[in-house]
Amino acid sequence: MTATAHLDLHTHTTASDGIRSPRELIDAARADGLAALAITDHDCVDGLPEAVAYAQSIGFRLFPGIEFSIDYPTGSFHLLGFNVDFRDAELKVVLDDLSAKRSTRANRIVADLNEKGIDIDLDEVVAMAGGGTIGRPHVARVLIRRGYARDMADTFANFMVKGKPGYVKKDKIAFDDAIRHIYRTGGIPIIAHPISIGYADYTQFEGLLKDFISRGVKGLEAYAPLHQAHDVSALVRLAEKYNLVITGGSDYHGDKNERLGCYGTDRLIPAEILPALEEFLARA
Ligand code: AMP
Ligand code: FE
Ligand code: FE
Ligand code: ZN
Repeated sequence: MTATAHLDLHTHTTASDGIRSPRELIDAARADGLAALAITDHDCVDGLPEAVAYAQSIGFRLFPGIEFSIDYPTGSFHLLGFNVDFRDAELKVVLDDLSAKRSTRANRIVADLNEKGIDIDLDEVVAMAGGGTIGRPHVARVLIRRGYARDMADTFANFMVKGKPGYVKKDKIAFDDAIRHIYRTGGIPIIAHPISIGYADYTQFEGLLKDFISRGVKGLEAYAPLHQAHDVSALVRLAEKYNLVITGGSDYHGDKNERLGCYGTDRLIPAEILPALEEFLARA
């Protein structure tokens, strides 16, 4: 493997629900020989100032990004924004509002768990989030520590999902608003791990994709842990057909058996996608 064989364009830090700080994550990416890294915290850009400054100081290619959870008529999905301007004041207002809603939701999650006899408290969850925006993984880590679940997969099989204790729907940003903010701050919007949208086949997905493109989507995350080989090839083919940029990421959080630079445990995300992405961003 050469030093530039792989990269990772979808990762999370302690600013949202990852377990490594931006700096630790960049160090790990560099130690693993990654050609580039994108930090894409959930509804949050708070890790980016430190990340960008540190990456610049050591000459490492870092894309400042974000991952929005989106409300959409046929179900929610995730939208990545690459190269968003994290200094933008209007974006900060939007993200502060989403963060406040996440805190309210954490409160309701804990209240529902307590009602169902699970003994955890909000302060523990808030401490687990360490000042970052709160998500279900922080509650999950408390549940694991308290012995209510073995690991993350076990937690999400039994808690905080529809029909289970602690399920509370999340308030999300509307699709067109997210797209508008990504463009307004100089970024480009990309559909994250498309398979999580839940289409029956790629003919159906192509129909959705036409709507996404008409609203401004510019790329597809073809390389994602949940994608089988046939998903990757179908998504790459669609990206080529509609002139979209192809990205890939491990969705690294640090405690789910993910590996930086890999989609799944051992498939490298090819660094060959980098030149096209760079060109795309230069034109944006
Ligand atoms: P939230 O944004 O608060 O709804 O939390 C969503 C996050 O929970 C995702 O980004 C993952 O980090 C985590 N998550 C959701 N489902 C699972 C799962 N089945 N296994 C592990 N982590 C999960
Ligand atoms: Fe997450
Ligand atoms: Fe996601
Ligand atoms: Zn993610």
